[in-house]
This record gives sequence, C-alpha cells and structure tokens, in this order.
Amino acid sequence: MDRDAILLTPGPLTTTLRTKLAMLRDWGSWDADFNRLTADLRARLLAIVHGAESHVVVPLQGSGTFSVEAAVATVVPRDGHILVLDNGAYCKRLARLSTLMGRRTTIVPHAEDAAVSPAELDARLAADASITHVGLIHCETGTGVLNPLAAVADVCARHGRGLIVDAMSSFAALAIDAREVRFDALIAASGKCLEGVPGMGFVFIRKAVLADCEGRSQSLAMDLHDQHAYMEKTGQWRFTPPTHVVAALLEALRQFDEEGGRPARLARYTDNCRTLIDGMTALGLRPFLEPALQAPIIVTFHAPAHPRYDFRTFYEAAKRRGFILYPGKLTQVETFRVGCIGAIGRNEMRQAVAAVREAMEEMGIGRSE
Ligand SMILES: *Cc1c(COP(=O)(O)O)cnc(C)c1O
Repeated sequence: MDRDAILLTPGPLTTTLRTKLAMLRDWGSWDADFNRLTADLRARLLAIVHGAESHVVVPLQGSGTFSVEAAVATVVPRDGHILVLDNGAYCKRLARLSTLMGRRTTIVPHAEDAAVSPAELDARLAADASITHVGLIHCETGTGVLNPLAAVADVCARHGRGLIVDAMSSFAALAIDAREVRFDALIAASGKCLEGVPGMGFVFIRKAVLADCEGRSQSLAMDLHDQHAYMEKTGQWRFTPPTHVVAALLEALRQFDEEGGRPARLARYTDNCRTLIDGMTALGLRPFLEPALQAPIIVTFHAPAHPRYDFRTFYEAAKRRGFILYPGKLTQVETFRVGCIGAIGRNEMRQAVAAVREAMEEMGIGRSE
C-alpha cells in the first residue's frame, strides 16, 4: 500500500498533506518568527471558544493527559476537593491523576451507557460544601457518549464551585462558548478535532481565577500559571517547545478557518458518523449507545456475536485494506470503536465500511444476525 492507512481512532488522526508539510522546517525556540507562530496560535484558539474577554489560553508540551494533569495541579488548591462525574475510562483517568496530584477526590459513578446527571451533581454539591471543583469529560471518548456540559456548568455556577472540563475530543467540533458556559479550566490538544499532529495540549483558564493559581502546582513542569506568566513576559515557551507540532497546528488552524470553522467541522463529522452508523448497521453491527447520547466523534459497536470473531484478526484484516480501527474499552461487553474525526469525509467512511464487510467475510463471520 503506497499511502498511509486511514486512522479511525481518537488520535493521532489522519492529517492533510498541507499540515504534514508544515513540519519540514526547523524553528529556533528563541526566534521572533517562532514566537509569532505561538502568538497567532493562541489568538486563534481563544477565538474558537469566544474566550478572549474572559479566559487566557496556556499551551503545554506533551500529550493531552499532561494538560489535564497540569490543569488540576494548577487550578485546584492543594487542600481543595474535586468531584469527578464518572461515566467512562477518561473520567477514571481524571480521578486517578487528581488523586495522584494529592487532591482530595470524590468519584460519582454513572453507567457507561448514560450521560452524567446534572441533578445528581446538584444534590451532591448541596450536601457537601467542601467540594471546591467539579471535573467533567465533555465527550467521554471511551464510549463516545456526549455529556451535558451546559447543564453541568449551570449547576456549578449556581453553587459557586469551579468547573474543570476535559474537552479533548470535542473542542473545535462541538459548540463551546465561554460567554455562555462558565468554566474555570477547559482542556484540549493539538491532535484531535483541530486535526494537527499530537504533541501539545492547551488549557483555557478563566482570568478571574488565574491570579489565585500562583504556587498551587507542586510540579514545576506542570505549572500552567508559571508557563503563562513566562509566555506573557517573553512570548516564548518556558521549556523546549514542540516547534514542529506548533507549526503544524497553526497550518491546521488555517485550514479549519478555510473549511468554515467549528460549524463546518461539526457538519463533516456528523456526516461521517451518520455514514458510518448507516453502513455498519446494514452489515448487522449495532452501536453500543442510544442515538441521543452519541457524540459524532467516535462510535462504539458491539462486536459480531460469532465464535470466530477475534478483535486482533479483525483489526489486521481491516488494516490490510487501509483502515486502522480501535479496540473497545468496556469490561462488561465485547466492543470495538471507530473514530469519525480527522481529515476524512464521507468517501473514507464508505470505504471503511466496505473494508469491515470484507474483513468479516474473510473471517467467515458474514452478516451477523
Ligand atoms: C484523547 C483524550 C485525552 C488525552 O489522551 P492522550 O493520550 O494523553 O493524548 C484525554 N481525554 C479525552 C476525553 C480524550 O479523548
């Protein structure tokens, strides 16, 4: 095969040639030209959430989880108490890293095939004044379920508690407006719906809470207050920046605007998701979630109920046809996942469904009944 396989995963994603070509330059981290890239990048990111008035954006080296950990360490006081609404694997990761950061952490478990409950949050906050912050995953990528960000933010605002949102897999596709939805920190990364390459995250922090964050982080590398102060003073990253990732992300952001911005991206992903589900359903493969809960980001399917089914074999057969699938993350039921995001459209989704059909035929499991 002379082209890269299409990545139907939650990141890294398939990127455009233009984005890849933007990485063919070496930039000096100290140089004014590179500092201009960083400034342009930050302004464009803030514009996507309409956050220029209310928030700052702090980029951070590393994968998305590094930025989630940094957000918790920077925003939650050391004697703070974070309540995590848990309906999946990324929620559990948020709770685990909060615990490891030494923050008192309470988990509110929910079913994996349901959205988290603003009503239950309301009751929890009313009952426990020690809770300072709430942690929410906007789109729980473990299953693909969309959580009710606006309703959760309203509950937090009413109780005067801080909200930390992991919007890693939703940012730049699903609507998030900082003028309407109150959050203290919101986290995303280069290699998801912006269709850049992986290697950096970024955190929107509400200006009103930023000053209070000084000295809260017990980690030097993860201190977003320090990273922000240094960037404001010098225009530079505090430590070695991922220069090629920054250049690629800026190029990806230009294409994002040319495509029509966030609404256009959501429309393409929604079409990808519909094409995928229609095609897979015709093959007898059932989505795990109710349609109303499904975000157009990644779809969990029940594995074919056939004794000859095995994910590894299925994966290899789809890969030989040019498509990379993703394993399921559920413990109770056998599933696999297919991403709808990246620089791909309806044609790629149709081809992916054809590859799945052929993979099933090759395995002798045909249409599952
Ligand atoms: C991708 C993702 C992350 C970050 O994962 P990394 O592997 O660290 O990049 C965090 N939260 C959610 C919801 C994600 O989809």
